[in-house]
Amino acid sequence: MRIDLHTHSTASDGTVPPAELMVAAAAAGLDVVALTDHDTTAGWARAAAALPPGLVLVPGLEMSCRWFGVSPSIPLHLLGYLVDPDHADLAAELARVRSSRLRRAERIVDRLRADGFDVSWDEVRRYADGGTVGRPHIANALIRLGVVRTTAEAFRPEWLGERYRVPKEDTDVFAGLGLIRAAGGVAVFAHPRATRRGRIVPDELIVELAAAGLAGLEADHPDHSPDERAHVRGLAADLDLLVTGSSDFHGSHKTVALGAETTAPEAYERLVALAAGSWRL
Ligand code: AMP
Ligand code: FE
Ligand code: FE
Ligand code: ZN
Repeated sequence: MRIDLHTHSTASDGTVPPAELMVAAAAAGLDVVALTDHDTTAGWARAAAALPPGLVLVPGLEMSCRWFGVSPSIPLHLLGYLVDPDHADLAAELARVRSSRLRRAERIVDRLRADGFDVSWDEVRRYADGGTVGRPHIANALIRLGVVRTTAEAFRPEWLGERYRVPKEDTDVFAGLGLIRAAGGVAVFAHPRATRRGRIVPDELIVELAAAGLAGLEADHPDHSPDERAHVRGLAADLDLLVTGSSDFHGSHKTVALGAETTAPEAYERLVALAAGSWRL
């Protein structure tokens, strides 16, 4: 069984629409694929309707969270699987973060314009195509303008990485974990050790999250070095958490292929068994 538990579509900052993503997942030889767009479940229906025979879709999302236990606070991502998408508190929180993302993107565009770069909010919104707006959509505009060549280049410190970085109003990580669980879902900490993405949280926080009901840690992720993967595996063993592996596919915004990293069948089965909601597979 080939299982990839973390992918993005045009419902957030991926470049492949949900339906095509399912076809591509089957073509990549996957048996199970999770759709985990940032702060939204809007792609699920389109993905489910296009599911090729033999491919299992695990509906999920990736919540933009923040740990406020240190100052300045540290952003982190929680994957939520098999949640009830109609759970009122969860849906309201996701809507709040998405609207914060809109205001933040407008501010980034304003700052770029103030410095003479001819990008517009209309253009960025067009790239987002109704999905959750993120910095990769602003990166599109910078590529179109010719000031950078790739999304990765647009995330360098002189661009969206630092100079034009504006924080968004993320969900408190304990609140996010509580919402995923309240909605019947299973929570996995995405790329917890990815130092190349920025600051990471200490293991003590992961111990606290495990006590609060976190189910797993994503160890095999393109942004983790071999040492980081080994550390995450050790921590998961100590805390009796399940371990996942995933590509975090984003289409042409990144270079990683679907199924480049995978989850062991035993971990996947344990994850599905933990789901309590109506979306249990
Ligand atoms: P945002 O959620 O708007 O803060 O933007 C973060 C998103 O940008 C991540 O989910 C990635 O998809 C993407 N991203 C972050 N860093 C990079 C990078 N170095 N190269 C390409 N994409 C990146
Ligand atoms: Fe992303
Ligand atoms: Fe992430
Ligand atoms: Zn992701």
